[in-house]
Amino acid sequence: MVPISFEFYPPKTPEQQSQLDRTVAKLRTRSPEYVSVTFGAGGSTLSHTPETIRQLRTGGLEAAPHLTCMGGSREEIRGLLKLYRALGAKRIVALRGDLPSGMVSAGEMRYADELVSFIREETGDHFHIEVAAYPEMHPQARDSQVDLRNFIGKVRAGANGAITQYFYNADAYFRFVEDVRAEGIDIPIVPGIMPIANFSQIRRFSELCGAEIPRWISQRMLAYADDAGSVRAFGAEVVAQLCRRLIEGGAPALHFYTLNLSKPTLNVLSRLQ
Ligand code: FAD
Repeated sequence: MVPISFEFYPPKTPEQQSQLDRTVAKLRTRSPEYVSVTFGAGGSTLSHTPETIRQLRTGGLEAAPHLTCMGGSREEIRGLLKLYRALGAKRIVALRGDLPSGMVSAGEMRYADELVSFIREETGDHFHIEVAAYPEMHPQARDSQVDLRNFIGKVRAGANGAITQYFYNADAYFRFVEDVRAEGIDIPIVPGIMPIANFSQIRRFSELCGAEIPRWISQRMLAYADDAGSVRAFGAEVVAQLCRRLIEGGAPALHFYTLNLSKPTLNVLSRLQ
């Protein structure tokens, strides 16, 4: 088995906090290399992400904050970098983020490569910086070649590694890695894995982020309709099969988008033993 990491979002209510606590208690038994905590662009989870990082680190987990630049100022980002250093964080996931609806100003940095450069300027080599990669292309990119060039720009700005958007087509990942390697770039590119527990939710997410759900998977899921047990079992098997192919094909690690739930991720992991 390769190293694994888990992604959480910062809880905003006591109920969400209890749910995260339960999830962390179950998932930490799988010895993740690290866990990461998302950050709302424009500061919508500004105060929650550092607090969640603090809690997870106090609990003995290697916790990495996500940091977005869209909607934020250099001063705010500088403040967060200081805070995360003080909390002992050594790894950070640097992203552009998306402009929340209703927000008009993009902030002082337009793309993630500027954020990566800024983190390097401010903190030198302190942080191991991860950036996002899109094997099926970022939905706003003009074409896949332009997107690849922009990805390479983030690496040249100082990223140490990448985590991909989730996908259900292993060939898209292998082709992307090949294209990146052909440019002489050898940083680890870790597949982002989205377990399927609730199909309509995954379909909605996928429309927004441009991840393709293969037709054969959609058709099976639609046929299961309200049979939640079959959806879960089939979803876990499909995703476990994807993980097996990725590991066999050389993926260096797996990063699970947990949505703060333990079962869907554990159902996949238990099939990978
Ligand atoms: P960029 O790398 O800046 O790319 C965005 C778009 O701009 C692409 O189309 C790219 O081709 C283009 N581009 C890039 N650089 C340039 C340039 N120099 N000139 C012209 N065009 C350029 N969102 C959150 O809000 N919070 C999170 O915590 C979060 N975590 C994530 C974790 C992972 C692993 C992933 C894959 C995504 C995450 N996202 C998160 C979503 C992410 O913020 C969005 O996908 C966003 O639209 C793009 O972010 P990016 O860092 O990839 O942007």
